[in-house]
Amino acid sequence: MPGARSLDQAQLGLGDMGIEEFRRVGHQVVDDVADYLARLEELPVLPRIRPGDVRARLPEVPPRSPEPIARILDDHRELIVPNVTQWQHPGFMAFFPATASAPGILGEWLAAALNSNVMLWRNAPASTELEEVVVSWLRQMLGLPACFDGMLTDTASISTLTSIIAARHAAPGLDVRERGLAGRGELGALRLYCSTEAHSSVEKAAIVAGIGRQGVRRIPVDGDYRLRPEELARAITSDRGSGHVPFCVVSTLGTTSSTSVDPAAEVARIAEGEGLWHHVDAAYAGAAALLEEKRPLFAGWERADSIVVNPHKWMFTPLDASLLLFRRPEVYTSALSLVPEYLRTTRQGEAHDYHEYGIQLGRRFRALKLWFIIRYFGSEGMAARIREHCRLAATLAERIGAHPDWELLSPVPFATVCFRHRPASLGARLGPDVEARLDRMNEAILEAVNRSGRVMLSHTRLAGRFTIRVSLGNLRAGAEHVDRCWAELSEAAASVAAHQRPVANET
Ligand SMILES: *Cc1c(COP(=O)(O)O)cnc(C)c1O
Repeated sequence: MPGARSLDQAQLGLGDMGIEEFRRVGHQVVDDVADYLARLEELPVLPRIRPGDVRARLPEVPPRSPEPIARILDDHRELIVPNVTQWQHPGFMAFFPATASAPGILGEWLAAALNSNVMLWRNAPASTELEEVVVSWLRQMLGLPACFDGMLTDTASISTLTSIIAARHAAPGLDVRERGLAGRGELGALRLYCSTEAHSSVEKAAIVAGIGRQGVRRIPVDGDYRLRPEELARAITSDRGSGHVPFCVVSTLGTTSSTSVDPAAEVARIAEGEGLWHHVDAAYAGAAALLEEKRPLFAGWERADSIVVNPHKWMFTPLDASLLLFRRPEVYTSALSLVPEYLRTTRQGEAHDYHEYGIQLGRRFRALKLWFIIRYFGSEGMAARIREHCRLAATLAERIGAHPDWELLSPVPFATVCFRHRPASLGARLGPDVEARLDRMNEAILEAVNRSGRVMLSHTRLAGRFTIRVSLGNLRAGAEHVDRCWAELSEAAASVAAHQRPVANET
């Protein structure tokens, strides 16, 4: 059979799956996926399984001889699909919902088929140039100026790590690229600043980049969980006084717990005055900059040295895709570029050799799915969807705020609501006993909601209090799903209350 393998390969039983078999099975896979998306709500969001259940049903040793593709697909349908947590389910409101849209899925499939490795232009001309175009489109959609260049990475964690390495390289006199950090007693300890609410990926980057966890100064936040600029300025001054070397500050626009927004303009002013690199982590909330009316929340980020926004969070893009924008691309290349002989090509024109800007050599063709998504929905269509998520979150927040038995625990700048159950019968009572009781009660409510299988929520702690989080952003969720979520919460609160002694008896 021609196509996937040559005649002698077919005779020897070598080579790839035959083309006609691929065509037939491929159509079957499209049908399976369409059925899956159509029937998502029949599945529990959170599978009712325990650790090891799936593993126990899988063979311990790999198959020696070929298995028919039909059997592999059957096993996928029966063993895997119902036993993943259903991120695509409209009831998935935990963490930050990350929906894989249909055009994104199609783009991902086609990218897998091309297997284009976007390391250098010569190895991937169209995919390199499409990445350049998509990065520029996204930058324009976010309202950022043309002085930002950028690239796609896998995750915000890697975008931030890469930027912290660039920041370290930009700091004068360190030359860590050539000399490393260890055994250099003449250097003061490097200091990186972020708020107490910043994502763990900042600290992880500090571990990897040789800054160490002790090199991360966590700056206190205000009552709305925003970095306090005067505390930042004070920490920098005190560190300089102790002989430390401040080199970078990270602002978070949309923190992972409460989606609070650091004052980027004030941080930018301090960073500029102190000569520090300013990295903006807008992994989740950056998508909201597609909305004109949300732009004021981002004021000052256009002055940053680097910015990360994750399309795989709130821009309907299948994992993985993180947008890293930077103002001085030459810092990234001078920090990280190594071009061994076998990668030397004659540069033709201005195209990027993307491997020179980051850590990876081989790079996935992520721009294709983004090209599909942005064209299919249009920038206005994407903005309209994000706007609707914010509106739904605002209506839920209103309901919670107006109810005597519930309280909001933080402002709602985007589409994530943080709150807890606090029965009106408690009155204004305070104190550690009441707080501990409320923690247990809310934990039980969250567990009950998640057991329902219809909705999945997650939690955080704000000012020490157990906090339930509802995050909207799922492309498939509408008002009826928010209503269902509220009904589940109310029902769970009632049943938890019925099973607990009244708090009054305890104090
Ligand atoms: C989710 C998140 C991250 C980490 O994103 P990954 O792409 O999973 O690495 C970093 N920062 C913030 C603010 C986030 O919300």
